[in-house]
Amino acid sequence: MASLGNPQNTIDIIKKYDFVFQKRFGQNFLIDTHVLDKIIRAAGITKDDMVLEIGPGIGTMTQYLAEAAGKVIAVEIDRNLIPILEDTLSEYDNVMVINEDVLKVDLNELAGQYNGGRPIKVVANLPYYITTPIIMGLFESGVPVDNITVMVQKEVAERMQAGPGTKDYGALSLAVQYYAKPYIVANVPPNCFMPRPNVGSAVIRLTRYTDYPVKVSDERLMFRIIRAAFNQRRKTLQNSINNSPELSIGKDDVAAVLKKMGLAASVRGEAMSLEQFAQFTELIKECGR
Ligand code: SAM
Repeated sequence: MASLGNPQNTIDIIKKYDFVFQKRFGQNFLIDTHVLDKIIRAAGITKDDMVLEIGPGIGTMTQYLAEAAGKVIAVEIDRNLIPILEDTLSEYDNVMVINEDVLKVDLNELAGQYNGGRPIKVVANLPYYITTPIIMGLFESGVPVDNITVMVQKEVAERMQAGPGTKDYGALSLAVQYYAKPYIVANVPPNCFMPRPNVGSAVIRLTRYTDYPVKVSDERLMFRIIRAAFNQRRKTLQNSINNSPELSIGKDDVAAVLKKMGLAASVRGEAMSLEQFAQFTELIKECGR
């Protein structure tokens, strides 16, 4: 039975091991069983699943995952947490802890070795300082992933889920939505963590598409165009592209493509959908031929 997940048991473990929280590792441990139950349910974990947990901390969520999943691989950077994890996870024989920086681990190899290359589930209360590199790394490296259910800063969750024309819509929304369908599962207040973070948090589930919603022949070019469009939010797409050091696309080509798409010459990136960015990219490529 999971024994962590409430404030007193967490304090007892911290004291037993004289553990000192490391701010630089984004350590805010979950102390609310309702939130933990919600995360496990949202991820839809069964005994057939292999779960990758990023940053197990003292093993609170790991205990819940070990009970729900077939296998859990937990990657933790802080070596001071390893003896604690050996203690709190001693009851479970389906958990493997790796003491590494998750950004340096070959996750494709892990999925291949321990799950026969079948899609894994990723569950984490993420260290907020590296939320975007972790999530985009998982998508871009092509690790076989079924869904990613993670606690992130509330504002970041909102940006991932935002659609065109809203204030939160931007390059992150498009990057995430190219690969996955986002769904905010719950908002989580600071008092559910020890120590309390300064920001609100949210659990978001990103269900990876097996078939991408848009097809582009040059992903790199599309994301360059998207980055340029949101680097200068207040500018028209035409000017943003013109000012981008990453792109060399003529103003006339942009104007011609926008016209072909039935969009105003003054359109801004923040009004364009993923489908429109994909179509724009294809037509721009045709101009260059
Ligand atoms: N899962 C625990 C919980 O919910 O109570 C801890 C979550 S805490 C927000 C983030 C965890 O990620 C910490 O244990 C921290 O040491 C670990 N961490 C930070 N950077 C990491 C990295 N680059 N690779 C692996 N783990 C990391």
